[in-house]
Amino acid sequence: MTGSDDNLGRDGASRPGPTDATVLVTGGAGFVGSHLCEALVADNEVRVLDDLSSGCPADVPPEATIVEGDVRDPATVREATAGVDVVFHEAALVSVAESVEKPLESDAVTSDGTLHVLDAARREDARVVLASSAAVYGHPESVPVTEDEPKAPTSPYGVAKLSADQYALRFNDLYGLETVSLRYFNIYGPRQNPEYGAVVSVFLDQATAGDPITVEGDGSQTRDFVHVDDVVRANLLAAETDHVGEAFNVGTGESVTIRELAETVRRATDSDSDVVHTDPRPGDIDHSLADVSKARERLGFEPTVSLEDGLTALHRERAAATPDPGDQATTD
Ligand code: UDP
Repeated sequence: MTGSDDNLGRDGASRPGPTDATVLVTGGAGFVGSHLCEALVADNEVRVLDDLSSGCPADVPPEATIVEGDVRDPATVREATAGVDVVFHEAALVSVAESVEKPLESDAVTSDGTLHVLDAARREDARVVLASSAAVYGHPESVPVTEDEPKAPTSPYGVAKLSADQYALRFNDLYGLETVSLRYFNIYGPRQNPEYGAVVSVFLDQATAGDPITVEGDGSQTRDFVHVDDVVRANLLAAETDHVGEAFNVGTGESVTIRELAETVRRATDSDSDVVHTDPRPGDIDHSLADVSKARERLGFEPTVSLEDGLTALHRERAAATPDPGDQATTD
């Protein structure tokens, strides 16, 4: 099941990661999970565990087997993990706002759910690659942040991700389970659920509709926007690294102000939408930027998609997926 750079992914491009393995992708009908499934199905048996609360089964490649179930249920998780070589654990309650409304549910899904996945993986001696988050750092003391930055999450989402992240690492120390925690920065790409209001989706929707682009505050706050294809690649590398029991930042190392993002979206969509400023978001993180040296050195991770290219491609894909009303035949 070891991968090599000679593996051919579905698109014919070489890709790292497992081959001839049985893999479980929890949250496989969701944003990152469904992209991971796409990368893996050509060369592996892919199983998806998803409760379909936010994911969409149509996004899962037909070759994958979907088990509809909840990570909060240990028996379901154990059954889905039987015979698996690698688990990519993406299932979580992914909305920060929802985690603030429902902290108990956030903890049950994201923290307890991870514990169930780790416990089941331990029985199978399966590697676990965990979706952690930059939210574990809260307001960083300085940027770029290394993995050793103090952890001070500001939301139940961040607390639950930190708990999941640390459980994964402790399962390596305590039981020798092969685990890797990947701390995702701000991911964007096709099929991101617009309901969660991630800024790239919001701005693209506004720009394509010709509506004003709403920058919260003065727009000087910064983020590190990483394309989902690069996040998938980090996962595939983590599935075969010798550096287990470790956490890695997954970003680009490029700092982008929200004002710059608004301008880049306008260019990528060829939009003449105005950029307007609204009230700043209470408690907003001023600056979030990954130091990706550790992932670069130990995983061989190299971000490949520039924001300009990623946004232009995303705009094209969204336009292709949205039927032009003028092309619709009318019947009565
Ligand atoms: N943001 C914005 N306009 C919007 C949505 C978000 O200016 O319509 C800003 C938000 O204030 C924050 C940044 O974009 O500074 C990233 O927000 P998002 O919720 O996408 O990610 P997070 O804050 O969790 O990094």
